[in-house]
Amino acid sequence: MNINPFQTALSQLKTAAEVAKIDPKFIERIQYPDRYIEVTIPIIMDDGSQKIFTGFRSQHNNARGPYKGGIRFHPDVNLDEVRALSFWMTFKNAVVNVPFGGGKGGIILDPKKLSETELEKLSRGYVQKLYPVFGPEFDVPAPDVNTNGKIMGWMVDEFEKLIGKKARATFTGKAIEDGGSQGRTEATGFGGGVVLREVLKAGLVDLGENKTIAIQGFGNVATYFAESAKAQGLKVVALSDSKGGIYNPEGIDVVAAEEHKKQTGALKGLSGTSEITNAELLELPVGVLVPAALENVLTGENASKIKAKLIIEMANGPTTQEADAIFEKNNIIVIPDILANSGGVATSYYEWYQNMHDEKWTREEVLAKLDALMIKAFEGVLEAKRKYNTSFRNGAYIVAIERIKEASKS
Ligand code: NAD
Repeated sequence: MNINPFQTALSQLKTAAEVAKIDPKFIERIQYPDRYIEVTIPIIMDDGSQKIFTGFRSQHNNARGPYKGGIRFHPDVNLDEVRALSFWMTFKNAVVNVPFGGGKGGIILDPKKLSETELEKLSRGYVQKLYPVFGPEFDVPAPDVNTNGKIMGWMVDEFEKLIGKKARATFTGKAIEDGGSQGRTEATGFGGGVVLREVLKAGLVDLGENKTIAIQGFGNVATYFAESAKAQGLKVVALSDSKGGIYNPEGIDVVAAEEHKKQTGALKGLSGTSEITNAELLELPVGVLVPAALENVLTGENASKIKAKLIIEMANGPTTQEADAIFEKNNIIVIPDILANSGGVATSYYEWYQNMHDEKWTREEVLAKLDALMIKAFEGVLEAKRKYNTSFRNGAYIVAIERIKEASKS
């Protein structure tokens, strides 16, 4: 079954709006971006031939602050996807309460087929076509799939040349030497760790003796989440990558797992662990389950087999609505993606802020601010959850809708 995560998000929004009786006219309006732009970018390739690329930018909503969201380089990029992702950003930024709206962009290309020179020309070409709608107080792009700090460096350099002055804050996710922020790499995983800590501290879930965690994925987000969970006294018993998972009920040494993956290219074979599939990982008898890789992994088919008491969605859109209903019935708490994985975007705000005020914060300062921000975001969602006697997911959407509506003054 092909489930579109954006359609899921849209329907989650409508469900939450009904719970809080929010004006349906506002909900109808907020589904559409303020504007979207399609550009063509001609590039002279290394062999002297010319290729025309297509790029997009969708500016969904700026009621709460500048449009904010990544730029994706991928062969499947299309206007529908870019529009959908820009919508998602508006809500994520509102839940974590940073003064940004939502935006997203992309170029249709396979980055593996371009040389570095061609990629640079394309990145600069994208900015040449869109610079009139970018700016630190209007639209602030960031990296996304297949884009990174180096690409942001080219883009901000091109932008500054075109407008004739320094404007570092126009792009986030930059390398430190280009004005990037300390702490950004670990921010999403650590932010999820703060949410985990707060859920347990609030006594919302009693793990009893079973203080174990299974994490699907072992990339950036999973690694730092695991580090944070371990520091809280929880035991990571399962991890996975695209090739499969590993399990040790006595606990996995995450640093040894990183080392093993670096040396062999995979997790499997780590001493003291047994091999499991990604599907088996989800159904382990653990206290906490953390999908941190792909969307739509928790579905109507496996939801009734999930034994965890708490699910923290670090990936975007890992739970289908069918699965959500089963979790609710089985009293499994689900902390939604738009809250759990918002630590990354929150730290992009810190990068923007440091650039705007010509400040440089240490990693410790950034992570301490992030901790406080995530606590506040969690408390806001918990309050809405209690007020409307509803799920964390509905609580998060209600908080976001109310903040966006308030800022829209309509
Ligand atoms: P990453 O590329 O660093 O890691 C992805 C991990 O998923 C890798 O370990 C990979 O092996 C694994 N994976 C890929 N295919 C898989 C499969 N079929 N089964 C199991 N595992 C598989 O990416 P990341 O930055 O850690 O992002 C992980 C998730 O978190 C994504 O859903 C992403 O959208 C979301 N997210 C990331 C950030 C961020 O700041 N990096 C912010 C918000 C949300």
